[in-house]
Amino acid sequence: MKTAGTGFKLSVTAVFIILLIAGGWPLRQHRHFPVEIVCGPGVTEIRNLSDYLPALKGTKADTPVFILSGKEPGGSVLVMGNTHANEPEGLLTVAIMIENAVVEKGTVFLIPSFNRSASLNTRPGEGYPLYFSIRTPWGQKRFRMGNRDASPLDQWPDPDVYIHYPEKQMLSYLDIRNTNRTWPGRKNGLPMEQVTFAAMELLRREQVDLAIDLHGAETMFPVTNCIVAPEKSMRIATLASLTVKSMEGFENHLESSPEKFRGLSHREIGDYSDTLPFLLESPIPFLDQPTGAKTEKLFLDGRDEFLLSLARKKKLFVPYDESGWSLDRRVGQHLSVSLEIIRQYSRKTPDRAIIIKNVPRYSDVVDNGTGSYFHNPASSEKGKVVKI
Ligand SMILES: [Zn+2]
Repeated sequence: MKTAGTGFKLSVTAVFIILLIAGGWPLRQHRHFPVEIVCGPGVTEIRNLSDYLPALKGTKADTPVFILSGKEPGGSVLVMGNTHANEPEGLLTVAIMIENAVVEKGTVFLIPSFNRSASLNTRPGEGYPLYFSIRTPWGQKRFRMGNRDASPLDQWPDPDVYIHYPEKQMLSYLDIRNTNRTWPGRKNGLPMEQVTFAAMELLRREQVDLAIDLHGAETMFPVTNCIVAPEKSMRIATLASLTVKSMEGFENHLESSPEKFRGLSHREIGDYSDTLPFLLESPIPFLDQPTGAKTEKLFLDGRDEFLLSLARKKKLFVPYDESGWSLDRRVGQHLSVSLEIIRQYSRKTPDRAIIIKNVPRYSDVVDNGTGSYFHNPASSEKGKVVKI
């Protein structure tokens, strides 16, 4: 039998290497693309999650923690974005707080990119864009579009079955890289278990009163456009939901945190610390399966003709029309609901009040656009620009 000649084998190898470089180079660029956040007047200190668990130091799972301390002592809150890095409205919400908020009483801890490894990951198999850009008064600001789970470059291999610690519930193998399934985490666990363990350490050591975890969810998923809260947080969540509806005119219903589904922030933070947890979901049409192409435009304006026809057949869990569900609405909702949770808690617990000023609310973001609240890193003081 005649075998292929050396020349042919070399040609096939060369084509393979060219394809590998052409496909891999954009992914490498994405993994190293810096997203710049400009510290606003309220930022008093920047730490890293590794300050609460040194094992994370020097790894891609470590992430900055921005601290905004008021002159007057009071309560404290942790707000986290990008637990799922393919739902970046949380990241943008937290970034707006970092760039603008001024805290008068109490302390605010802000983590814009909670699962940082997931923000370095992508979903090219589903045609996700690698980046999205937001229009600002000084030009386009570019962000990495991440994935739901940490990158296999940072945590691999996955187990056949993920056994949650310490409740021993069996979960999908993939969820060992999902930082909304690894709470409360463990000190000597896999990197994502260490990320949630470090955050639990922050909550316990700093005696944080409230934890708000920001997400986006499909319009065809019932747990969307809502606040998820366990029993201990439900009173504050109810007041926040009713107030935004009556004062700001948007719906944000309540969902109770299931007691038997383990690993989620709204369950484990409450069970393993004194903190009151809340998880906020805003509707993100980009994540729904029956849509057109997963373009940057769909991510930004949330308009899709297939979802519109499903809405007419009453298959969606949110009201949906030609106007879609824009990024500005999603970010605005997160800002207003977070501020309202903080305000309601402060009213009920005046000795642990948290007073924050200069953060836009829903109608501000819808009217002015998300980008109008970001400052130009190029014209900012160098020491104030942090790459995340
Ligand atoms: Zn999520």
